[in-house]
Amino acid sequence: MVHFREKHNIKIKPRDYENDVLLNLPHVPDKMFIKCPHCKCSIYSGDIGIEKICPKCSYNFRITASERLKITVDIDSFNELFEGIKSDNPIGFPNYLEKLEELRMKTGLDEAVLTGKASIDDQKILIGIMDSRFIMGSMGRLVGEKITKLFELATVEHLPVIIFTASGGARMQEGIISLMQMEKISAAVQRHSSAGLLYISILTDPTTGEVTASFAMQGDIILAEPGALIGFAGKRVINETLRRDLPENFQKSEYLLEHGFVDTVMDRKQMKETLSLLLSLHSKGKK
Ligand SMILES: [Zn+2]
Repeated sequence: MVHFREKHNIKIKPRDYENDVLLNLPHVPDKMFIKCPHCKCSIYSGDIGIEKICPKCSYNFRITASERLKITVDIDSFNELFEGIKSDNPIGFPNYLEKLEELRMKTGLDEAVLTGKASIDDQKILIGIMDSRFIMGSMGRLVGEKITKLFELATVEHLPVIIFTASGGARMQEGIISLMQMEKISAAVQRHSSAGLLYISILTDPTTGEVTASFAMQGDIILAEPGALIGFAGKRVINETLRRDLPENFQKSEYLLEHGFVDTVMDRKQMKETLSLLLSLHSKGKK
């Protein structure tokens, strides 16, 4: 049998492997480049550093509670508190407990806030760090309970409280129980404040809804990270309700600073040093 190519005298050029453009494309491993959600630039992941800051626009990327802990408190000073409080499903939301269990396995956290005792430059603090990976940092009964207990312990032990907020708002899966956490935490914050103790809140991307409407905005000193979304209702909801165009940077940290809602906008590279200074200025000579 004569092959079709031989019959028609068709010559096939052997593949030039040395100069093959497709074969010689550099291999780019997954996650080597990430897109900045703020300036939309493609950033080499090695350039964002341990603090995870965009080198082009200084946007502070979202980080996990344990990453935050590492860059904020003294090494090995953290002791977790109030972990393992039992969850419930107050309004019988379908598959809610299973979802919580799945997130616990995935994140290593028991809820959307990590709470504990630590020190910053040997100054003792009680600290709460919210993690947006856990149902968008939403506030349910357990988040409310852990933060309330944190303030109550701080009041008894005369310690300052530092909270990093990151939340989409109320935990819809817990209905009205979720909204009741606002009042519970606010009362504990007030008792801590009446005892003359310091509370610093740091608003990170995103801090919205019921968390903004309660303890996020109750700090004696309120700091915010650059480019963070901070607000109560979403921009689209406000736009549709008021039927008015909103500024480009509406609900961003810088906009809130201009309008007096936060004390300063600060890069997380300066955060530990600034917190240490604020704590020492308010320590009344004690450590
Ligand atoms: Zn950027």
